[in-house]
Amino acid sequence: MTTFAKSVRKYEKLCRANDVPPETVMAFLVELSMKERYNLYLHYEEEMPEDLEKRFDEGMQRILNQEPMAHVLGYSWFYGYRMIVNGDVLIPRSETEELCAHILSRIDRYFPEGEVECADIGTGSGAIAIAVSKEEPRVRMTATDISADALKTAVINAQENDAHVSFMAGDMVRPLIDRGCRLDVLISNPPYIPSEEQMEKSVVDFEPHVALFGGNDGLYFYRQIFRDCRKVLKDRAFMAFEMGWDQRERMSALVEEYLPEARYEILKDMNGKDRMLFVYFNLGDDE
Ligand code: SAM
Ligand code: GLN
Repeated sequence: MTTFAKSVRKYEKLCRANDVPPETVMAFLVELSMKERYNLYLHYEEEMPEDLEKRFDEGMQRILNQEPMAHVLGYSWFYGYRMIVNGDVLIPRSETEELCAHILSRIDRYFPEGEVECADIGTGSGAIAIAVSKEEPRVRMTATDISADALKTAVINAQENDAHVSFMAGDMVRPLIDRGCRLDVLISNPPYIPSEEQMEKSVVDFEPHVALFGGNDGLYFYRQIFRDCRKVLKDRAFMAFEMGWDQRERMSALVEEYLPEARYEILKDMNGKDRMLFVYFNLGDDE
């Protein structure tokens, strides 16, 4: 038997010793207590109920072995929506929530009325497709992925969140070309880690490599989309991408090479890192 306070202190110390961010301890305990509808803050100095203590201890052992907290819980939060996650999908990142916010503000600005045809390429858990279509009811969303297993999870997430998304399996833009789709907005957070890059154990050992690696320079999938995008975009349209923080120069060169007629901008995330690329076709100058 132990109190919440003592157990939290113990695991925070163990996290520091094992290279796990100590904030994970409270974040995990808050999620577990919420599930039990247990008011953690009211009872913080009291003894932990036995079953909660057991679940907390078991979960913390996995987290100390570098397993992501989202895998231990079986879900993570994205834009206020609960997404089931597992080894088949990338755990949606907070930077990607920022991408969604920028997409929604640009839909308001450039497509203020009527239906908006959107596609999310490489949807993974379905996070972007679900958040954008929930937040903007005028959106008609199609989401694709090459991984049939990822799509199974995305379909469940759409159902659980009551989101209307059509899912298609296939390679990048191909399924959209085959269906003759015409888009106002093309969205993608493709795999963009260069193949040789060293990464944290919690990512490399637990997240699907098909979701992470984007060829030698990390830009393989952007080239594919830039090459094919005109086949699926309307004349007036924009594209929104997440990108690696160190890809500004190479990304700019790529857009200028493949899409010389388009206007584009690279936006920073909350940490001040280059993170998002927006490409505009016939949507006016710097409005
Ligand atoms: N959109 C999700 C998000 O933002 O959290 C997942 C992004 S993850 C970085 C990239 C996704 O692209 C993975 O789900 C992966 O299965 C998918 N993918 C990889 N290669 C693909 C391809 N050739 N065609 C379509 N999707 C692909
Ligand atoms: N942001 C993810 C990571 O660094 C990678 C996402 C991606 O490749 N699109 O783990």
